[in-house]
Amino acid sequence: MEVPMPNQEKKSHKESLHDPFTNAVKQLEKVGEILNLESEIVETLSSPDNLIKVDVPVEMDDGSVKTFKGFRSQHNDARGPYKGGIRFSPQVNESEVKALSMWMTWKCAVADIPFGGGKGGVEVNTKELSKEEIERLSRSYIRQIHKHIGPDQDVPAPDMYTTPEIMAWMVEEYSDLVGKESPAVITGKPIEAGGSQGRTEATGQGGVYVLNRLSEKRNLDPENTSVAVQGSGNVGYYFATLAAQEGYKVVALSDSKSAIYNKDGLNVKKALDYKNEKGSYEGFNGGKQINNNELIELDVNVLVPAAVENVITEDNADKVKAEYVIEMANGPVTPEADEILRRKKTLVVPDVLANSGGVTVSYFEWVQNKEGKEWSKEEVLGKLKDKIVPAFDKVWDTMESYDTDMRMGAYILAVSKVVDAMK
Ligand code: NAD
Repeated sequence: MEVPMPNQEKKSHKESLHDPFTNAVKQLEKVGEILNLESEIVETLSSPDNLIKVDVPVEMDDGSVKTFKGFRSQHNDARGPYKGGIRFSPQVNESEVKALSMWMTWKCAVADIPFGGGKGGVEVNTKELSKEEIERLSRSYIRQIHKHIGPDQDVPAPDMYTTPEIMAWMVEEYSDLVGKESPAVITGKPIEAGGSQGRTEATGQGGVYVLNRLSEKRNLDPENTSVAVQGSGNVGYYFATLAAQEGYKVVALSDSKSAIYNKDGLNVKKALDYKNEKGSYEGFNGGKQINNNELIELDVNVLVPAAVENVITEDNADKVKAEYVIEMANGPVTPEADEILRRKKTLVVPDVLANSGGVTVSYFEWVQNKEGKEWSKEEVLGKLKDKIVPAFDKVWDTMESYDTDMRMGAYILAVSKVVDAMK
């Protein structure tokens, strides 16, 4: 018998704790108990309706053919067509796409848009491919899955390492295969290919609407509310910019390599311009250089993880001093950390609500494509506010009536809506 070394045992225990699909099913089972759902319903929702696995052959620049593994998980379409991104990443695997597709079902229900949940991906490191190879990969993936997607069936979008340009190639390929222009099959396209105004800032803007509503609920005065934002990509950039414009005191910002802190408030525009020009915050003199671990533990009112998953874990949750955590990234707080934060009375605004601005504007893009309309940015962002603020209030009310936290409130609300639609 092989005796595992202690650290190996610890690693595999941690790995199983962080297996995304196991976590997603555990959350669902908890909601099932609270709502007293029939076991058949919980069982049906515990696995995707369809899991499509495909080989994606790509002709490389040297003439050889490489085959990559592709997936599309379609979790539930009771409320409308499956909806969710396609990621190109070496970490893509079956468990990940299944979990992410389930979370999309809940997110669309919380956001109150008529979609179900889907997610897809290809296991590939795009940094090792040329632009032409990425285009051939994108088109090949669509050729493999095109029978399973469609404007009224399953509507993909960009995700990690996929871009609006990639979406445009995919739509073109799909339209060729079905023999008609089908812009509504995929969202997150460039404007000139049928994308929506306001999509770029939608997720960050949605997060700031959420922050404003939270401030109203808790009587926070923006000028005296300090905010630390982890990540300066699409989401972090717009969240920090728009929060500063609303008068919040943004005191910290980071990227994968560097972080800065100024307890009196950063000049956000200057800091982001510096980062865009120099590639990192190193050398920026408007704040103190810190690291990403220190950012998580800062003495601030609001902590906004807007970069990657699993940054608040059982190892650092105890050291979080913020009273509020707004999850702009997907899955930044592990379930164990969530438990610790709950005990400390830290209020966590869950990702399915906080970052739902992106999918909401994707839905607006789909509506515009189907109706042949083009809305202005003001119209799009106004409609976003009209969706996300009531969504916040419904989650808040559910939290209060079930005497639970916001994450559970969001799941209870989402699962109830999906189960109603199934029935
Ligand atoms: P992005 O790639 O544009 O930016 C990611 C940022 O995170 C970069 O600033 C990067 O430097 C930083 N980063 C990477 N690794 C890090 C680490 N280990 N520690 C700290 N920072 C790190 O991505 P994005 O579109 O801004 O997405 C960020 C998160 O928000 C992801 O979890 C994504 O799934 C989620 N999200 C994005 C959208 C959207 O519309 N873009 C919508 C919903 C959810």
